[in-house]
Amino acid sequence: MENALLALKKYFGYDSFRPMQSDIIQSVYSGKDTLVLMPTGGGKSICFQIPAVTLPGITIVISPLIALMKDQVEGLQANGVPAAFINSTSDSATNIKTENAAVDGHLKLLYVSPEKIVSQSFQSFLKRLKISLIAVDEAHCISSWGHDFRPEYTQLKFLKTQFPQVPMIALTATADKLTRKDMLTQLGLVDPAVYISSFDRPNITLTVKPGQKRFEQIVDHLKKNPGQSGIIYCLSRRSCEEISNKLNEKGFKTDYYHADLPQQRRRKVQEDFINDRTPVICATIAFGMGIDKSNVRFVIHYNLPRNLEGYYQEIGRAGRDGLPANAILFFSYADVMTYRDMINDNEGEQVQKDLKIAKLTRMYEFAEAPVCRRKTVLAYFDETYERNCGNCDVCKNPPRYFDGTVAAQKALSAIKRTNEKVGMSMLVNILRGSRNREIMDNRYDQIKTYGQGKEYSFDDWLYLLMQMLHLGLVEIAYDDNNRLRVTPYGNDVLFNGKKAQLAIPVTPEKKEAAKKEALAQIKPASKAQTLRDELFERLKTLRRNIALQAGIPPYQVFSDATLTEMCEKRPLADADLLMVSGVGERKLQQFGDAFIAEIRRFVMEKESDGVKVAGSTYLLTYEMFNSGMDIDEIARQRGISPTTVLGHLCNMYERGQELNIHEWITAEELDIIRGALPLFTEPYSMKDIFEHFYQQYSFDKIRWAIAADRRENARTTSP
Ligand code: ADP
Ligand code: ZN
Repeated sequence: MENALLALKKYFGYDSFRPMQSDIIQSVYSGKDTLVLMPTGGGKSICFQIPAVTLPGITIVISPLIALMKDQVEGLQANGVPAAFINSTSDSATNIKTENAAVDGHLKLLYVSPEKIVSQSFQSFLKRLKISLIAVDEAHCISSWGHDFRPEYTQLKFLKTQFPQVPMIALTATADKLTRKDMLTQLGLVDPAVYISSFDRPNITLTVKPGQKRFEQIVDHLKKNPGQSGIIYCLSRRSCEEISNKLNEKGFKTDYYHADLPQQRRRKVQEDFINDRTPVICATIAFGMGIDKSNVRFVIHYNLPRNLEGYYQEIGRAGRDGLPANAILFFSYADVMTYRDMINDNEGEQVQKDLKIAKLTRMYEFAEAPVCRRKTVLAYFDETYERNCGNCDVCKNPPRYFDGTVAAQKALSAIKRTNEKVGMSMLVNILRGSRNREIMDNRYDQIKTYGQGKEYSFDDWLYLLMQMLHLGLVEIAYDDNNRLRVTPYGNDVLFNGKKAQLAIPVTPEKKEAAKKEALAQIKPASKAQTLRDELFERLKTLRRNIALQAGIPPYQVFSDATLTEMCEKRPLADADLLMVSGVGERKLQQFGDAFIAEIRRFVMEKESDGVKVAGSTYLLTYEMFNSGMDIDEIARQRGISPTTVLGHLCNMYERGQELNIHEWITAEELDIIRGALPLFTEPYSMKDIFEHFYQQYSFDKIRWAIAADRRENARTTSP
C-alpha cells in the first residue's frame, strides 16, 4: 500500500486515497476478483490505474465508449503513465505499434474496446502479454436489464476461463440489483469482493423550481455565474436550438447539440465544450455520455427528466472535480402530460408502458414532494440517508404547513358546482372572481364560491391545487380535457369533517422580504476572496493557452480544483507547488514553471500596487537579491533587518529556489553542520547547534545548513 500511495502522489499529485479506494486496491493486490459500484465522479479509475502502475505487468481495460477511452489515455499520458488504446478508430499501423509496445513491456495500461477484445484475431496477441489485471469499465453494459446493453459484453466471460489466474475488477456507476447480479455471473467473477459506495454527490446542490418563466430564470443564473461550464438539457431538438439561439441573442456564448446534427458538427460542439471554448450547451440527453469533463459547474433540466435514473445520471455530469456544483430542475405539469401521452401513443407492450408510467410518477413525485431531495433520490436507489442534506432547495427553505381545510373546501365546492367540467386554470379564475368571457358565458359567476378565493394569488392557488392532487383530494381526467374531479377522499374533506394539511404558499410580500434578507446577507467579497478570484481568472487563461499549445483539454492540464487550491496557497516555488493536490511529478515538470511564474507575476504586481499578499515578502527579497542588490541594501530599502533578509533567502532556497549558497557557507562547512543535524530535532534550536560546535559556525551558516538540509529532504521523500 505504501507503493500505491507513492504512485498516487507521483503520477496524480493526490495525497491520500478516498475511503473506499484503498480497500479496493488492497483487494486487487491480494489477487481477488472485485466488483466496484461507485457514482460518477467517485474516483473509480484510480482503483485500477494505481494497481496498473504498481503491478509488474500490463493492465487491460475494457471500455465501451471510444471518446472516454481516448480521454482517459490522454489523461494518463499527461501524468506520465505509459498508456494506449486500441479500438475501431485507431488505424492498423498505430495498432501494430501499440501491440509491440505492449508485448515489449513498455505499456502499463492498454484500453481495448469490447469488439476488439472478443475478436479472434486479438487472441494470440493477448496470450503474448504479461497481464497483471483486467478491468471491465462500465460493467453494467453486460446486463440486458441495464440501460446501455452491449451484446459484445456478454462474451467477456472467456477472459476468466482464458486467464483464470489474472484478477478482474468490474466497475460501474449503475447499481440496480438485477444488473449487479448479471455482472457477477456473466463475467464469471470468482468469489468476488463487492464494494458499494454511497451514491450521494454531496457537492451538488439539488434544486427544483417551478417551470414558469424558466428562460428568464436561466438568464438570471447565467448572469450570476459568468463563464461557468454547464449543460442545459431540453426535451426536443427544436427547443435545444431555440433556447441556445435566444441565449446567444442575450449575449451568452452557447451552442446546441442533438442527434440530428451531422457527426462532424456534433464532434465540434463537444470539443468546444471540453476545451472551454463554449461554456454552455443546450442539448438533448444524447449529450454528455462519455464526456469526462471535470469542471461542469451546473446541469439544468429545462424539462422534467423521464425517470430518476436519467435525472441522476445527467446531474452526475456536474462537479466531478468535487467543487460545488448546481443541479437545477424546472418542473411543469405540462411535461408530465406530454410524456404520458408519448408513452401511451407509442407502440409496445402494456407492461413496458406501465413501467415507464410508474417511473415517470416517481420522477414528478420527487419534484413535488416537500421532502429533502437527496433523501428522496437516494431512497430510490435503495440507499438510506437518515438526515436532511442541508444542500437542496427543500432543506434550505423548508415548507411550513397550515390547516388548509377551508381553502381546500372552497376549491372542492367550486369543482362540484361546475359539475366537474373545468380544468385547473378555469377553476382558479372562478375562485378569484375573474370576469373573463368563458366564465360569463358559462354563468360560473353565479355559483356560490365565485370570487371566494381572492386571498390567494393565481400561482398560490396552483400550488395549493397541486398539493390537493398529490394528497388525493382531486384527480385529473387526462382522457377528458384534463377536467378536475373530486375523489372520495375529497368528499370527506368537503362534507365529513376531514382536515387537509397544506404547505403555505409563499406570498409575494414574503418573497420580497426573503429577497431583502438574502441580499442583506450577501457581504461584499472579502479582500482575500477578490485576490483569489482575480488570480483564478489569470491561471485559467494560462491553462487555456497551455492546453491549446499542447493540444489537450484544459482540465487535463490541471483541474479547477487544483487551480482553486493554487489560488489559496499561491505556490512560489516547486516544493510549494508539489504540495497542491493534483500536481504530480510529470505535471510539475511540464507546467510548473509557467504556473509559478504567473503566480509570482501576480504577487509582484499586487505588491507594487501596494496590496499586501501573503508570501510576497520572501519573493520580493528574493527578486531584489537576484537583481544584484546585496543583503544590506535590501534591508535598508525594505526597512527590515539584514537577518530577516537572510531568513527570506533561506526560506526561498529551502522551497527549491536556486541560489548560490556558497557565498555564505562552504561545501565542507555545509557537510559538517548537516552531519550533526540528526542529533537534534525539528524545530531546531539554533543556539543548541551553535553550542554543539563550540561557537565555531555563525548563526547564518547554521541557518543555511538547515535550509539546505530541508530542501534536500523534501526532494528525496517526495516520490
Ligand atoms: P469516476 O470514474 O468514478 O466517474 P474519476 O475516476 O473520473 O471518477 O474521478 C473523479 C475525479 O476525482 C477526478 O477528477 C479524479 O482525478 C479525482 N480523484 C479521484 N481519486 C482522488 C483522490 N484520491 N484524491 C483526490 N482526487 C481524486
Ligand atoms: Zn436536502
